[in-house]
Amino acid sequence: MDDFTPVKKMMTERMVRLYCSDHHGGEVLCDNCQQELDTMFKHLDACKFKDEGWPCPTCPDSCFHGRDLEAMMRVMSYVQEWMDRNSDKAASMMPPKIV
Ligand SMILES: [Zn+2]
Repeated sequence: MDDFTPVKKMMTERMVRLYCSDHHGGEVLCDNCQQELDTMFKHLDACKFKDEGWPCPTCPDSCFHGRDLEAMMRVMSYVQEWMDRNSDKAASMMPPKIV
C-alpha cells in the first residue's frame, strides 16, 4: 500500500502554492516554483520510505541534495513561519491524517 505519496504530494503542492503566492504573487505557480514542485514530486515518487509517512525534513536518509534540498527547506521554513503567524489557518497546512 502506498497511501502516503498522494497525501504528501497534495501537502507539498499546497506549501509551494502558499510560498509562491506570497513571494511571487499571482494565482498560478510561477515557472520556477512549478519546476521546484515537479522536482519534489519526483523525489516523492522515488522515495524508498513511501509507506512510513514522515516529512522529508525529518527523513533519516533524505534524497534531497544541493539545490533540491535548499528549495524544499526554503518552502518548508516559510510555511512553518506562516503557521506561527496564522495559527487560525495553520490547520489547513496540516496533513489530513499523517501525524
Ligand atoms: Zn513562485
